[in-house]
Amino acid sequence: MNQADTNIARISLASKREILPTEKQISKFWARVVKSDGCWEWQGYKDKSGYGKVQVGDDWRKNGRLVLTHRLSFAINFHQPLDSLVLHKCDNPSCVRPDHLFLGNQQENIKDMDSKKRRMSAEGEKAGSAKLSNEEVLEARNLYANGELTIPRLAIKYGLSKRCMWKIIRRKSWKHI
Ligand SMILES: [Zn+2]
Repeated sequence: MNQADTNIARISLASKREILPTEKQISKFWARVVKSDGCWEWQGYKDKSGYGKVQVGDDWRKNGRLVLTHRLSFAINFHQPLDSLVLHKCDNPSCVRPDHLFLGNQQENIKDMDSKKRRMSAEGEKAGSAKLSNEEVLEARNLYANGELTIPRLAIKYGLSKRCMWKIIRRKSWKHI
């Protein structure tokens, strides 16, 4: 990618405002991606659903915004403003490999999410607390029992709602361990 190309990466946001990442932001972005034969994993900040987010824009306070890293990757690679959603072919939210991404509309996104949800329930997972492993549940209960963390603190630590965390601690959920 040459210098001129990086200037064409425009990220359209829901607000219809376009943000131009600076060259420095683009190189910082790629520095935090681990490339492989499969997915290219974003190593920086991720939201609860596993989507990477990064700051772009000339002046963070005035014009800057947090954008989704896979959207940024798509925009950099294909040099186009994004008017629609960027979806994953690989179902890996933190993947930023351009050829694992495609442009889609809301309808396709809903279809995509529905099929993912179906797969999740087929695996016997419940929303929310299903994000935790057995070890994490035991660890959370220990931290609570030892008085190290309160339920609201634990909820933050494990990215769950307070109610969800309360159920785990009180053994209203995850009763089998
Ligand atoms: Zn991927």
